[in-house]
Amino acid sequence: MIYYENLFHSNSKFLKEYEQKFNQVLNSGWFILGNEVSNFENQFAGYHNVRFCVGVASGLDALTLSLLSSGIETKSEVIVPSNTYIATILSILHSNMIPVLVEPDIKTYNIDPDRIEEKITSRTKAIMIVHLYGKSCDMDKILRICRKYNLILIEDCAQSHGAKYKNQLTGTFGEFGAFSFYPTKNLGALGDAGAVITNNEQYNERLKMLRNYGSHKKYHNELVGFNSRLDEIQAALLSVKLKFLDEINNHKRKLAGIYLDNLKDEFVKPVFDENYFDVYHIFNIRHPKRDQLKEYLLKNEILTEIHYPVPPHKQKAMQGIINGDFPIAEEIHNTTLSLPCSFGHTEDDIYKVVEVMNKF
Ligand SMILES: *Cc1c(COP(=O)(O)O)cnc(C)c1O
Repeated sequence: MIYYENLFHSNSKFLKEYEQKFNQVLNSGWFILGNEVSNFENQFAGYHNVRFCVGVASGLDALTLSLLSSGIETKSEVIVPSNTYIATILSILHSNMIPVLVEPDIKTYNIDPDRIEEKITSRTKAIMIVHLYGKSCDMDKILRICRKYNLILIEDCAQSHGAKYKNQLTGTFGEFGAFSFYPTKNLGALGDAGAVITNNEQYNERLKMLRNYGSHKKYHNELVGFNSRLDEIQAALLSVKLKFLDEINNHKRKLAGIYLDNLKDEFVKPVFDENYFDVYHIFNIRHPKRDQLKEYLLKNEILTEIHYPVPPHKQKAMQGIINGDFPIAEEIHNTTLSLPCSFGHTEDDIYKVVEVMNKF
């Protein structure tokens, strides 16, 4: 059996260091907002060469607190891709703003910059992009639009830790880079966790308050805040794993390269472009007989996933909230299949998947 991802295997390299760190935190007797959180924040800001990082409880909160720190008034419109994980859109709704969906480019699966301007109105205040599957969006075009219309840029980097565009890390282009450390992400914790990076001192201050009941000083509340703190335990474990992020990404890139070089052209593979350093959080292909292919692989003991089976505008929760047709998003959702490509997989695993797939 080749699993889609086995999180025990993906983490086994770090077990010893995790155990040491766990004991260290246990013995310290300090579990919320202590040294481990500030150490990890410094390391994660350092990795990105930005001034600030604020650890929060999840990727969803990283996005929501970014919007709420930005100073954008409620009821503003926020541009967002039509093919993303629901959390991206939920963060806009939880901030009392209005999501305006823009179709993706069918080749890159990322928001199509050429379709953004037609959706901009006087109420548009921000663009929330998603570097989907671990590939950066087309940043030159997006930054030009943000400057032209004076829009805040928030990057959903939940799938793009370490991904680059023209040698610049995702998360460092916009006012806010929002990350999830959900266990399956390229930098995954052993539970829920997230962070925001920014170069802006005022945003940093607000983020720090919002995650902690709107307070700077204990029992003095300046903002209507939340409880969205990164735990000491998770921060400590993330510090261990961050040292290996580039190794994890390079492993996934090596496995992706095997697929790219060997899978038949019948499968629509991710595009490759020298300007993009892709980290393949998800390695997907597209095929018109996707469901049959998934079934066939299962019979051959290869497990796959679909990211995602139902697009946001088709979700029951979005009825009456998102209107309009999004045929490109639907086309992707109907044909995409995610193949095994994790830190816990070997090159042999991938050659096996290729062999079985090419006989479909
Ligand atoms: C995982 C993910 C999120 C949400 O992260 P959580 O930590 O689960 O809240 C947001 N956006 C995208 C694109 C994701 O893949």
